[in-house]
Amino acid sequence: MNAFAEVMDFTRQTEALAQVSGRLGWDQQTVMPRGANAQRSEEMAALEAVLHARRTDPKLGDLLDAAEPPDEAGAAQLRELRRGFARNTRVPARLAAELARITPLSQTAWEEARAAGDVAAFLPWLSQMIALRREEGEAIADGGDPYDALMADYEPETDAASVAAIFDQMRPRLVALRDAVLGADTPPALTGTFDRDGQLRLARKLAERFGYDMGRGRIDLAVHPFSSGSGDDVRITTRVAENDPFNCLYSTLHEVGHGAYEQGVDPAYRLTPIGRGASMGVHESQSRIYENQLGRSRAFCHWLHGEMLAEFGPLNVADADGFYAAANRVTRGYIRTEADEVQYNLHIMLRFDLERGLIDGKLRPDDLEEAWNTRFEADFGIPVDRPANGVLQDVHWSVGLFGYFPTYALGNLYAGCLHQALRADILDLDAQLGAGDLKAATGWLREKLQVHGALRNPRDTIEAACGAAPVAAPLLDYLDAKFGALYRL
Ligand code: ZN
Repeated sequence: MNAFAEVMDFTRQTEALAQVSGRLGWDQQTVMPRGANAQRSEEMAALEAVLHARRTDPKLGDLLDAAEPPDEAGAAQLRELRRGFARNTRVPARLAAELARITPLSQTAWEEARAAGDVAAFLPWLSQMIALRREEGEAIADGGDPYDALMADYEPETDAASVAAIFDQMRPRLVALRDAVLGADTPPALTGTFDRDGQLRLARKLAERFGYDMGRGRIDLAVHPFSSGSGDDVRITTRVAENDPFNCLYSTLHEVGHGAYEQGVDPAYRLTPIGRGASMGVHESQSRIYENQLGRSRAFCHWLHGEMLAEFGPLNVADADGFYAAANRVTRGYIRTEADEVQYNLHIMLRFDLERGLIDGKLRPDDLEEAWNTRFEADFGIPVDRPANGVLQDVHWSVGLFGYFPTYALGNLYAGCLHQALRADILDLDAQLGAGDLKAATGWLREKLQVHGALRNPRDTIEAACGAAPVAAPLLDYLDAKFGALYRL
């Protein structure tokens, strides 16, 4: 067997084990008995040790040195494998073990601190986590910038400087739009009680309309919706709030975007390094375009309004346009995950600036809460009332996810580019959306982007699908047009 075939053989088994590990994580957040927590940690740690040993095996390094790619896909496999091998072998085993040990403890400390509103109780954990991740970033960067190295785990081949430049471009237009919208009349929200089973029935119908294959997937309930798995076993979760059906429906569409992406990758890439989404940012572009540009469009909301009437009877909004306005309300709020399309990216910019300060040491953990509160009031015009609505609202930093937040905003930006290109190719898109028909739109995304998995780096993945390099203008133009019309600006 030649070196390339041997690498791929070895890698398929590693990827298969990684899928098993992911499914244990899914199980833990959905159906695992509460009493199994400690045992599950041990099971996952044991599997993680096997995975780490395989990913840093010197034999793999020798094979990667010798392997020659047979074709373009083979070259992409080697690119991903070499990047992963270099990264994993640079992190000392002691550091990897310490991060694995600290992470669940730090997450529990964050949960307790958030519930108690006690930032000080979380700070020792946060400080430890920052120190460990900074050390890891320095090890991976090998003389380069630690924050860039951490970000590359989620969004390869980009850096903080270029993300900062994009954000600087986006901010003035987003702030101007947000201020104009908040100065206009706010449309009524959807109110009432919406039967749980009815919401789940409709969520399932939406998932199927958007091309999520229930034969290779399933939908379960979880406190924080997520998707997991790839290939022929891709699972998503949703949640139900009886007074807010948009929560269930749009959480579902968001996760369907992630899940459909994984289901849509070329089966030839199954259980290989390119048999998955190109990056977290590209992943988020799929969840966002399903949820927002398609799912919250006027045409689709008109169709959904009819479905809601059929499922729940009369609603408190006047008509289909009132329903569309309710699904796209912009109000002042503290919480990133509940933010509308206009304000979402401003939440990300705040976190991006603060976490870069934490990693490079210019912002001390002791000063984080004050820095957050000052910045939040300057950016959003309201003072933070309690830590759960401020610095303690997100899980990310407690589990060491530094460099992850910007991928959400990049995903929105990519979604803007894809939406523009999709509309240029499908001229009667609104007529289709108005009939609840997503086949052409999701088929376009599958053919142009999803099927290729991680064949190309994130930027090139978007460029290949859109015919132009990703920039912020399409997203900003879309937001101005949509919310300008909705709020009669
Ligand atoms: Zn997402």
